Order: sequence, then C-alpha cells, then structure tokens
Amino acid sequence: MQKPADIAEFLKARGLRVSLQKLEIAKHVLGEHRHFTAEEIFKEINTDFPRVSRATVFNVLNLFVEHGLLKTVQARSDVLLYDSNTEDHDHVVVAATGKIFDVQLPEKEKQAFLKTLWIKNPHLPKKAAAQVVVHV
Ligand SMILES: [Zn+2]
Repeated sequence: MQKPADIAEFLKARGLRVSLQKLEIAKHVLGEHRHFTAEEIFKEINTDFPRVSRATVFNVLNLFVEHGLLKTVQARSDVLLYDSNTEDHDHVVVAATGKIFDVQLPEKEKQAFLKTLWIKNPHLPKKAAAQVVVHV
C-alpha cells in the first residue's frame, strides 16, 4: 500500500475525504506496523511538507483512529502512542529505552508474564526484568 493511488483508494473505501496532507500522513503511518507519537510524524513530514502543521498531523491521526485505521495506546506514561497494528495485541515496553514491542500473550499468562520473563532470561539482572512493563 505504498503507492499514492492505492492509499487514496484505501482512504476513500473507509469513508475519508482524500487530501494531499492525509495522503502524506497515511504514507508514513499505514504502510508498516509501528508505534509513534504525533510529534514524530510531524517531524518526519515536516522535512518534505513544511506547511503541514502539528495540529493537522494530530487531527488526521485522530481521524484515522476514529475510522479504525490506527489505535492509540498508553504504553508509556509520558506520551500517547499511535499504533498501526489494529489487531488485538499486547505490548512490552522496555522502561530503560522506551522501546515498545507487540506481543500476543495468552490470557492466563498475562499476570505471570514478568515472572516468566525472569525465569526464561536468567541472565537478566532482576532489576532489568522489572523494568520491562507489560501493557495489555
Ligand atoms: Zn502495538
């Protein structure tokens, strides 16, 4: 879904009016699974499209959320992330780096996940294991 024509069709099929700004933002956020902040997308787009404002990026991202193209995830306490993986899934956040990974945890394992992680990774210092936060 990298070609602009494909993206335009994709947006239209979901009831969205197509604009150049929406197309550009969609190119950055819908092509691959990723987690990002509105600010990150604003900076990426600003290089090529300096006239696209922060407010526009924010509004378009939220429009994509309303139309089910993105999800929001509060996996870091400091910032709201957008997620291009709209399937049900869980997240592991490495607290030290803020890196976030998609994972699928069986329901019964969610509670015991930190313990499991520790047992499966005995080389990790206990402190490091504790710094991995599971967001479900
Ligand atoms: Zn995710």
